[in-house]
Amino acid sequence: MTVGWASLGERTDIQRIAIVGGGPGGLTLATILKPLRIPFTVFELDASRNSRGQGGMLDIHKETGQLALQKAGLMDEFKKRMRVDATEFLLRDNTGAVRLHHGAESEEDPERPEIDRAELRGLLLDALEGDDVKWGKKLASAAKTTGEAGGTFDLHFADGTKEDGYNILVGADGTWSRVRPLRSDVPPPYTGMNIVSTSISDIDERYPHLAAFVGNGSCMMVSGKALVIAQRNGNATVKTYSCIPVEENWKETSGIDWTDQKKGLTDFIDRFHSDWADEVKQLFVECDEGELAVRPIYMFPANHKFERKLSGVTLLGDAAHAISPFAGTGVNNAMYDAFELAVALEKVAFEGAPVDEVLEDYEKRILKRASADSEECRHNQEMWLTGKSVDEIVAQFNAMFGGAEDS
Ligand SMILES: Cc1cc2nc3c(=O)[nH]c(=O)nc-3n(C[C@H](O)[C@H](O)[C@H](O)COP(=O)(O)OP(=O)(O)OC[C@H]3O[C@@H](n4cnc5c(N)ncnc54)[C@H](O)[C@@H]3O)c2cc1C
Repeated sequence: MTVGWASLGERTDIQRIAIVGGGPGGLTLATILKPLRIPFTVFELDASRNSRGQGGMLDIHKETGQLALQKAGLMDEFKKRMRVDATEFLLRDNTGAVRLHHGAESEEDPERPEIDRAELRGLLLDALEGDDVKWGKKLASAAKTTGEAGGTFDLHFADGTKEDGYNILVGADGTWSRVRPLRSDVPPPYTGMNIVSTSISDIDERYPHLAAFVGNGSCMMVSGKALVIAQRNGNATVKTYSCIPVEENWKETSGIDWTDQKKGLTDFIDRFHSDWADEVKQLFVECDEGELAVRPIYMFPANHKFERKLSGVTLLGDAAHAISPFAGTGVNNAMYDAFELAVALEKVAFEGAPVDEVLEDYEKRILKRASADSEECRHNQEMWLTGKSVDEIVAQFNAMFGGAEDS
């Protein structure tokens, strides 16, 4: 039997929502539920809000990510923290020649302003209260009890603790979600691509020529066989990513000794970027100590669905539809999923809508949206990493931007 909150009486005393994962998706959901007084708790594996670096910058799209922030009442705060100058885009070929330059968007009502991931997390956390997020809670497994009104969820954490009595469980815990097994046994397939990433701090002082090479925002470099993207983050840090078509466990099988960071990166450059501009090589080799990462990338294919139904549990963001960075939509989808899920839960809380019906409708919509993006990622990966000429790739970007401004 599915039950609506309104039909149960005083909703805040009865319904408890567990959100597993305090990434952009889970926290956006929390910030929207908060002013609606719909009770929730976020369980996040990080020990605290500052316990690890949060990665690079993200462009927040007007029609999805910004809409979610608006629903949470956070657009004014977002505008204070967004970086419109970072929307500048340079496309270079592997020799370093500029093939397309697109200037920054207008400060007035920008379509896709950038924000550092840590700033975005800070913005969302500042809108919550102390008890809303429980830190250091890595979900090990979740199970549903049988009981009155359809049962509740028990959460078992890696630290040996247990929480119980949650009526609704939301998995917002990313690509390797521990909630997803309640709905599906299918893991996200490997894309065929690893990303080698580096980070250089204090770039203006230490490497001004690299700062000039990258520009104020994103600088993408293509050869037809590999793709490099360097991004200037808010704190004068440049993060650089090399996307290479290799086997899944290439970090281990490459024969590169990654324990000696500088030597490892020099060997990597010799293998994948030996005929690239010196600036590109330096963006890797001069990486701050300890900031090198090598990651295989995973993505669900178009038309992916959850295998099983289980009343009261759903997923959002990468937990629902992990995607590669090649459509630039992962975080926006996660935030927009949060928006759509909050609207669905609002209907349950204030109109007495049946939980299962609204969740089923929500899942149909988010999986359809993600399916189109997954297809775009696959297409772009094929275009950028395997086989197209630099001229063909430049033509694709020209079409995307409606013609170069000054190429
Ligand atoms: C190199 C790279 C670059 C990218 N660049 C872009 C970009 O430019 N634009 C874009 O839109 N997207 C980009 N993406 C994709 C984007 O980062 C993700 O799609 C987005 O972060 C998904 O948000 P999420 O909240 O669903 O999941 P995540 O951001 O993965 O957040 C999940 C949260 O859950 C926590 N968690 C995980 N497991 C558990 C557990 N067992 N228990 C409790 N908590 C847990 C994690 O610590 C984390 O805080 C990029 C991805 C990569 C790898």
